[in-house]
Amino acid sequence: MFRPHGAAKKVSSPAAVQPVGARNSVMKASLNPHSDFITKRIADICKTNRWNTKIIDTPHNEFVRDFTDNVFTNLIRTTFTAAYLKKHPCADCGAPSTERCHGLGEERPLLIARALARVWPDTSVPIMLRDIICAFLEEHKTTAFALKCKACHAKETATLKTMSASPE
Ligand SMILES: [Zn+2]
Repeated sequence: MFRPHGAAKKVSSPAAVQPVGARNSVMKASLNPHSDFITKRIADICKTNRWNTKIIDTPHNEFVRDFTDNVFTNLIRTTFTAAYLKKHPCADCGAPSTERCHGLGEERPLLIARALARVWPDTSVPIMLRDIICAFLEEHKTTAFALKCKACHAKETATLKTMSASPE
């Protein structure tokens, strides 16, 4: 008498729990695997006395054009260090990763533009470079940003070129 009751309980309770578990796994899947690490690096940047430079009256597209290939490229390189890459093999094939890859349609300039729209809607109000940098890093949490090997990154870049070369 006890056994079937216990067995029934065992079957019914995971079934009742399942929807919540399923929802949790969906949430985890949509959050970038590097999110916790990014949160820590943002906290580090807030603690430093760097990036106090203030910017004002600059259109977003000009800011993106002037700072993408220097400040923000270096930021990604110094945030996701060689030591960090060593701990995170290629997201596609598992080989040692060497590249920091922004997903298709989530390239660096687009993430900077998204960050600017969020934290600096009114360019007549001065903003500290630090706030833009933190917002830019934050944007990565909802993207497919990944660490990959050279071959897999090249494959991704080739896809991008094909997409932009195709008509429409
Ligand atoms: Zn790979």
